[in-house]
Amino acid sequence: VEVESAVNVGGNSSIIHGWFSELSPMWPGEAHSLKVEKILFQGKSKYQNLMVFESSTYGKVLVLDGVIQLTERDECAYQEMITHLPLCSISNPKKVLVIGGGDGGVLREIARYSSIEQIDICEIDEMVVDISKKFFPKISVGFEDPRVNLHIGDGVAFLKAVPIGTYDAVIVDSSDPIGPAQELFEKPFFESVAKALRPGGVVCTQAESIWLHMHIIEDIVTICRQIFKGSVNYAWTTVPTYPSGIIGFMLCSTEGPVVDFKQPVGFINESTSNSDRPLKFYNKEIHQASFCLPTFARRVIDRA
Ligand code: SAM
Repeated sequence: VEVESAVNVGGNSSIIHGWFSELSPMWPGEAHSLKVEKILFQGKSKYQNLMVFESSTYGKVLVLDGVIQLTERDECAYQEMITHLPLCSISNPKKVLVIGGGDGGVLREIARYSSIEQIDICEIDEMVVDISKKFFPKISVGFEDPRVNLHIGDGVAFLKAVPIGTYDAVIVDSSDPIGPAQELFEKPFFESVAKALRPGGVVCTQAESIWLHMHIIEDIVTICRQIFKGSVNYAWTTVPTYPSGIIGFMLCSTEGPVVDFKQPVGFINESTSNSDRPLKFYNKEIHQASFCLPTFARRVIDRA
């Protein structure tokens, strides 16, 4: 595809004069741009527009409905943090559920734990899985772990059918709350997550940016405080290709054995799996630091 002319890529984003610019009503008045070397794939599934392009400086990029989901260069920051923040906060996790995450990166990170016996994933869009396997082999490698069971379907419906107390951890690796992921930010969904967790089980959900979405974060924190009677925390990390360059996570635990998210207890066994892919981003210090919030954010989250 010729990248010098204007190309519509779904949502409000476009490629103009060889630059992808990410526009959305979720970040009005600003747009991050990446220089495009080549468009590798454009398609439309039942749920969303998909695009993969080769960028000049961040490797291959996956875009859904005009919004960057991951780049080869900085995906480690997101995938490692959304996975190891919850899993290193409990000892010996055995059963984990991923909602969304069709690229496979979170699965790749979960597979590092030798204690884990069962990894279920429910992704709504099979085309995301197929595209990841074709263009992002170092990310989709997560699907190759024999403990992984892939379900294609809506995460909301999947969770409703889960027997009470099934999982040690649920990781919600969703897109933004416009489109198929909208319900993943609503109260009934969090109620199903809490039911699906064992006492003292943990959830980690993608929870947007403190620079852009304090109102969404405030609503999520309020909902989580009503539902999760263990602990409720907000953490954040840097991901340069996400809007405002950062992304947050809600980390909550159900009533039961106390979980202190700020004091990791877990242990990633790098030698049993993924020994050829050492961690790039996560470490104990960054785990603890990710819960330190700027004053403006702490004020809102504390009062929610
Ligand atoms: N792992 C990624 C990263 O590194 O940033 C990004 C997000 S991931 C690709 C988000 C996924 O959530 C998408 O594949 C999308 O199809 C999926 N999704 C959205 N709504 C969903 C729903 N209701 N149930 C299950 N999956 C959903």
